[in-house]
Amino acid sequence: MSYTKPLPAIDNWNRPFWDATREQRLVAQACEPCGTVFFPPGPVCPHCLSAKLSWKQLSGRGTVESWVVFHQVYYKGFADEMPYNVAMIRLDEGARMLSNVVVPNDSLHADMRVEVVFAPATEELSIPKFRPLTPGEG
Ligand SMILES: [Zn+2]
Repeated sequence: MSYTKPLPAIDNWNRPFWDATREQRLVAQACEPCGTVFFPPGPVCPHCLSAKLSWKQLSGRGTVESWVVFHQVYYKGFADEMPYNVAMIRLDEGARMLSNVVVPNDSLHADMRVEVVFAPATEELSIPKFRPLTPGEG
């Protein structure tokens, strides 16, 4: 079955991120002088504007800060998943990421602890989503 949702445009800035997701790893850029970890990728640190950046392996864990639930079909590929959530995840390393939490929408709550899972989309791409962590998991 072919993937019918929109796919990211891969460029030189985000290619290391998408290469890592294909290997089921979550990475983000880290600023060497100030330590800020950020997403989406870019040419300079959004905190101190340094261009001395490297890619950091992340734990894949984070906390739900906020979310919305979409009830309107903006892209036909999402029609079978209506309504679906889009959540702002604060990763444990500090970066924020927009993604889906794979739970019933009415069970989402602020400060929910989550962990990344990877949903294969194409041979080249896997989409990072999040699942809830149970209390003992952190
Ligand atoms: Zn910095």
